[in-house]
Amino acid sequence: MDVLDGNALAGRLADLLGWDATDSPVRCRACGDGGAVARVAVYVSAMGAVARCRACDAVLLTMVDAVGGRSWIGMPGIDALEVRRG
Ligand SMILES: [Zn+2]
Repeated sequence: MDVLDGNALAGRLADLLGWDATDSPVRCRACGDGGAVARVAVYVSAMGAVARCRACDAVLLTMVDAVGGRSWIGMPGIDALEVRRG
């Protein structure tokens, strides 16, 4: 599976969260590494996407689309994510 960067999540995150999160700082819960969402490692499949920390490979975020226009976002490895409003 090809490794992409966080920009691969730009459209889906903007659609689901309502803002472009690729410039938002994110911090890994496992190792404390931080940086913009755009620099995380992203693996995309037909089922959805998984974002992993580039420093320790911990799973930061999972995104799965379900039937009926529903989506599930998990953030098991994100200690903090900056949210921008307005
Ligand atoms: Zn990490």
